[in-house]
Amino acid sequence: MHRCRMSGWAKGVIVFLIVAILTYILYVGSPFGFKSLFYGAFKKTATIYLDYQTNTFTVLNGENISLKYSQHDENIAPFVLAAAENFYLQLQRKLNFNPGSGKVLVIVYPDRISLNNSFGLSGDRSADGVYWAGSIRTLSPYAMLPPDSAGKTAEEVFMEKGPLVHELTHYLVDRQTSGNYTRWLTEGLAQYLEREITGYTLESPARESQLHLYSLSSLDRDYDQQPDQVLAYWQSLETVDYLIKEHGIEKMQELLTALGQGITIDKALQGVYGLSLGMLNEAVQGYISSETSG
Ligand SMILES: [Zn+2]
Repeated sequence: MHRCRMSGWAKGVIVFLIVAILTYILYVGSPFGFKSLFYGAFKKTATIYLDYQTNTFTVLNGENISLKYSQHDENIAPFVLAAAENFYLQLQRKLNFNPGSGKVLVIVYPDRISLNNSFGLSGDRSADGVYWAGSIRTLSPYAMLPPDSAGKTAEEVFMEKGPLVHELTHYLVDRQTSGNYTRWLTEGLAQYLEREITGYTLESPARESQLHLYSLSSLDRDYDQQPDQVLAYWQSLETVDYLIKEHGIEKMQELLTALGQGITIDKALQGVYGLSLGMLNEAVQGYISSETSG
């Protein structure tokens, strides 16, 4: 048997160099086409790994969604699949984007602990669901029932405030832009479409906080690190609200298309809306003030 004589030290250097080169390609110096190819391969690998991690779960395939669930959710799984298929088609129509072939992997976890344990990193996250690297995880509808469910069924609660519309929006935005999106945009769109389709909205920040928005560039850099997450999410929705109410959904579709071509968010906003990030920030602050005073 051939044994490699390389020392641990030399191996470490080689691994370091490979990681450094890939990081450079991914974040700094590559043409967008190569970056998106690399990102696509990363998402595929992550999805295969998630599929493997849940290999004791049962699979139920729809036309566009591949649903996996544990025995706990056997009875409700067909309902969840039908809801996901329906939401997915509505979202494609609203965004005017069809990602084509391939099913979206959606995993249903029986309780909050198993959902949280499945997921150690931060990412696009709503209370009961996660979108990360090409696939969606959701809490079981049974686990969403509050202790005082006021006679509501798990199905009703899931349709009213389940995370599927929100997470499927993240999936479509990621597909359309090949990962070239900014968090405030995808969080704003997810909440905008959630409100349109199910009527669900997150809580609003206090009136005082609404007058002190984060700069969009700081949200671009560090969305999850902003101390007031309620404000960050709400501001994202207000920004998308402003863009769609003032300029129409078609311009939003144009913005996503531009991002999908590898154009930076600053240049795409400038090209589609004639706005810099700073101008958009100011316009949204004005929009909020006029809303709250009116
Ligand atoms: Zn989200």
